[in-house]
This record gives sequence, structure tokens and C-alpha cells, in this order.
Amino acid sequence: MPSPATESKAIPNAASSTMPMLKQYWGYESFLPLQDQAVAAILHRQDSLVILPTGSGKSLCYQLPVLMMPGTAIVVSPLVSLMKDQVDTLNGMGIPAGILNSAMAERERKDAIQKMRAGEYKLFYVAPEGLAKESFIELLHQCKLAYFVIDEAHCISQWGHDFRSAYRELGKLRELFPGVGIHAFTATATPPVRDDIIQALHLQDCAPLVGHFDRPNLLYRVQYRTNLMKQLGEVLDRYPDEGGIIYCISRKDVDELTTSLKAKGYQALPYHAGLSADARQRHQDAFMNEGVNIIVATIAFGMGIDRSNIRYVIHTGMPKAIENYQQEAGRAGRDRLNAECVLLYSGVDVVKWRSIMGEPKTDYDRLALSKLFEMSDYCQQSICRHRFLVEYFGQGFEKANCQHCDYCLGEYEALEDSITVARKILSCIARVNERFGGHHVSQVLHGASTEKIRQFGHDQLSTYGLLKEYSQRDIQLWIDQLVYLNFLVREPQYGSLQFTTLGKQLLKGEGEISLAKPVKPQKEKKKAKQLGIAEETPFDPNLFEALRKLRRSIAQEKKVPPYIIFSDVTLKEIARHKPTSLADFEGIKGIGENKLKELCPLFLPVVLEFP
Ligand code: ADP
Repeated sequence: MPSPATESKAIPNAASSTMPMLKQYWGYESFLPLQDQAVAAILHRQDSLVILPTGSGKSLCYQLPVLMMPGTAIVVSPLVSLMKDQVDTLNGMGIPAGILNSAMAERERKDAIQKMRAGEYKLFYVAPEGLAKESFIELLHQCKLAYFVIDEAHCISQWGHDFRSAYRELGKLRELFPGVGIHAFTATATPPVRDDIIQALHLQDCAPLVGHFDRPNLLYRVQYRTNLMKQLGEVLDRYPDEGGIIYCISRKDVDELTTSLKAKGYQALPYHAGLSADARQRHQDAFMNEGVNIIVATIAFGMGIDRSNIRYVIHTGMPKAIENYQQEAGRAGRDRLNAECVLLYSGVDVVKWRSIMGEPKTDYDRLALSKLFEMSDYCQQSICRHRFLVEYFGQGFEKANCQHCDYCLGEYEALEDSITVARKILSCIARVNERFGGHHVSQVLHGASTEKIRQFGHDQLSTYGLLKEYSQRDIQLWIDQLVYLNFLVREPQYGSLQFTTLGKQLLKGEGEISLAKPVKPQKEKKKAKQLGIAEETPFDPNLFEALRKLRRSIAQEKKVPPYIIFSDVTLKEIARHKPTSLADFEGIKGIGENKLKELCPLFLPVVLEFP
């Protein structure tokens, strides 16, 4: 039976009454999927839990309804940078919004509190720690409240991957403000996390709205890590002037990789918890303000990243759970334009994570370990990557071919003689008495000459060099697939390969198997279309560059990130339609009344230079 939290209730949509607001403030003609239901739930004062992937337009869902209600919406958000971005965006659209956080000067705080008390804000942003303070609760009792919004609500659950204890305090809101609606928003929440959110926040008669987890604009690729710099270069060179994140597992990897990239002429900055707070802030700002396009980071570079025009996210090692991957890779293409997510992995990543995690002792540890194995499955699977991710989060995937992942694009093909190759691998594992790991076994099969092979006399085995016509990398890939397909297991402590019942049967000649191999890359440079990157409707690239330049300088002057001025989507629309008067700007996506008045007169002269 499905959990109660996974069933969506029927909520009437809000489209007709809210349309004028959508157009006036946001400059949009229609809602994205589920936005109207999420807005309607708030307008009908029904508690809600909204689960929509990154880039689905969650913020609009809770920012719009308050414009049609008396009072202020209180938004709880985990990070100052996120709050600041949202407040700047809202103010830029002409919606009064305020913020209170511990980093503000005393005078600013007093000013914000006074305005809040006077009911001048439609939205007010606060961190969970700030909300829990008695003085803040007192302030709220003096104000007219429209509703509470809990953003990144998965932080409330210990089963989530970003548990934050201050979020638990939010459970008091219901009792303290009994008549005020509570609306929780998150991008990732498995059914147990959903139940946890509903219970912890005491959501009543809650209407969970669960969107489709697929991010069709993201192109997923997984590659076996062989020559890191070369593999990175292939992706970076596809996006020379665009923003991207490269994730590494350790701080040391971040520092080394940044140095290597700089030596190759790429402009890149590092980000990890070992840098001073000042350096971290500077590097993050440079990336957000488009001063630098490549950031090399550990997962410490996380939640506060709202830059919407990130065109690629590369993982140089496997993350420890699908949830982490979904969230980190999900930072690409927030503006809904195409973006690429490349995961470079090797079998040793699992071993590395296991040594970081240590022996599992509690239920929580065991859960973490099973998540690690599921992540490893993602790397090994031979089905569509969109399908894998969507099914992992408990949803169905209807497309037979997504056209947007390496498998569906035919970058892997079935190995013709799978069964013979698999038997040769298994037989080698039997000859080394199931006491060695994938790296060594692949070297023996490839016929490598190593000290370890000589020391154990493995060059005397009948299986030595038995697969010498294949690269060691391919053999390792097939060993990983044999583990994934449950013919082999890795012994937990040392990672030595051992047979399962299925593996023993296959060795005896019983059973079937199909292995996949990467298709050899073609020599000539592939066009975007061949790489699965759908081409956009054409626009004038020179005008787009000129508009970006102007956007950057306005952003600098206003001390906000460029994407807050206009998104890339809006700039491309301008570069496509070339409006010749202010009235022409009106129909362009993302231009509401305020921006039309304040910004378009600055952009018009630039457009006119490109007839
Ligand atoms: P999320 O919080 O779910 O990650 P955002 O609120 O950042 O998503 O929105 C993602 C992008 O979608 C933004 O660029 C936003 O302006 C755009 N967007 C939101 N609602 C609409 C809409 N109704 N029509 C077109 N674009 C929209």
C-alpha cells in the first residue's frame, strides 16, 4: 500500500485568478507543472508538502499567493546566501521582501524588525535558528501572518541527507500559531522523509504534491575514470565561456586539480572547508558573479548555490548516495536550459568511501552503506540513467529512450561475446582463490607485468593474459558489471572478489549474461547534436554576449549576481526576438512590469546595435 504521504490530493487549480499576478510580476504566461496546485493549496489555507525537483519553479509557488492575501509570509531557509538571493530577486520584481540573520549589523536588524512590525513586507526570510528565538516568536505574535514556508524541508528528517537539528524546532510552529498554514518545500524526499516532514511539522490534512523527478534538460553520462585531465578537458572545452562545477571527494584532490587546470590555461577556483572563510566567500562570489566560470569543490560547495546558468557538473569520483548525486548534479541547468552531468568513477571509489565510513554499527550506518551500493549500481547499470534515477525515487519512467543519457545515445553497446568473457573473468577469480580485488584480477587477465603478479606466481596461471586483446580498463568495467549483476560480491574488508551462487552457476556453464562496452569515441569533434545536446532555437550569439556583458555591469552596480537581473533564458529570448521598442519587450518570458520599467530601457540600446 502506498504511504499516505505519497498520495496527492485533488486541489482545484488557481490558474484563472492568479494569472494577472504571474504576468505582472514574473512576466510568465503560464504555470509550470504543479505550480498552480501548490499556489491553490496555499490560497485555500490547506497545509502542503511540495516535492519538485530543482529548476521546477518552487519559489514562485510560495511567493505568489501572498500577493493575494493579507499579511506576511514567513520563509524559513537554511542559508543566508539563498535568502539574500531570493530577497534581491523579489525586490527586483517590485515585491517587498525582508530578511533577518545573524550576519546583519544591529542597525539593519532594527530596521528590518521595525518594517516587519509595520507590515511593510509581503515575504520575510529567516534561518531556522533565528525563528526558534523567543524574541522572534514574540515579534511574529505582533504581526499579521499569512503563512509559514519551510524551504529545503528535507533538512528536518534524520533520514534525509542534510539533517539540521534547528529544523526540528520548527515543530513548535503549529502549537504557537494554530491558525496559520504551514507549507513545506523540497527537491528530494523519499517516502520515509516525506512522512517525517509531515509528522515533525504537524501538517494537518496535508496535501502532498509530488512532481516528476525527471530533469529532462540534464544529459547524464558516466565514464570509467582513466585519464582524468583528458576526460575533464573534453567536457570543459564544450563549454568555454559557461559556468560549471567540478566535484572532488577530498580537499587534496580539489587543490591538486585546480592547480593542474590552471596550468592548462583554465580559469578555475577551489572551494573546500579547509580554506579560510574569507577565501571561500571570495571564490563563491567570483563564481556566482560570473567572474570565474569553473569552480573545483568538495561537497562543502553546496546548498547556497543558486546560479541558474550552470551548464555542467562533473564528478571526479562517485558520491556516496544517489540523493547526494541528484542534488549535486541537479545544480546544473536550473534555468531549464540544457546542461550536462558527467560522473567519472572507478571501482576504487566504493572502497574509498567504505574506509571513510568505517564499519557499520548502527541502523543509520547500514542505511548509508546500502545507499553507497545503490550509487555504485547507478555507475554499473545498463539501463537509461534518467529511468534509474526516477525509479530510485519511486516513480515510473515512460520513455523507452530518453535521448539524453549515454546509454540511450548509444555510447555503450552490448559486448558480443559476453558469456565467454564473463567465464574467463570468473575462471581467473577461481584460480586466484577468490582472494584478490578487481584491479589485480584485471591485470592478470590483461597479462600485465607487475611485481605483485610475479610475487604470487600469477603469471604462471592458465588465465594469465587470457583477455589480452582488451584493455585493462574494459576488463575492470566488466568485473564491476559482474558485481552489479550479482555474479560476484566484493568481500567487505579487502574488496576481494568472491562468487555468488549465480556466479558459480555461470562458471559451470549455466545461465545467461549480457555485458556492455563503451563505443569507441570518434576521432572528429562531435557536434552538439551528436552529443545529445538538443540544439536551441537559434538566437544571435553576438547580441547574447553583449547582453551578458551589460547584465554583468548592472549586476555589479546593484551588488547582486547577474542571474538575478535576468536569467539566460530571458537574455536568449531577447537575442532571438530583438525587440525594437519597450513595448516589444513586454511579451518576453521573464520580464514583469518592474523589470520592464527599470531594466529594459538599459537593454534596448544594446539590442538596437544588432539589427
Ligand atoms: P526551484 O526552486 O524549484 O529550483 P526556481 O524557483 O529556481 O526552481 O525556478 C527555476 C527556473 O524556472 C527559474 O529560472 C524560474 O524563473 C523559472 N520559472 C519559474 N516559474 C516559471 C513559469 N511559470 N514559467 C517559466 N519559467 C518559470
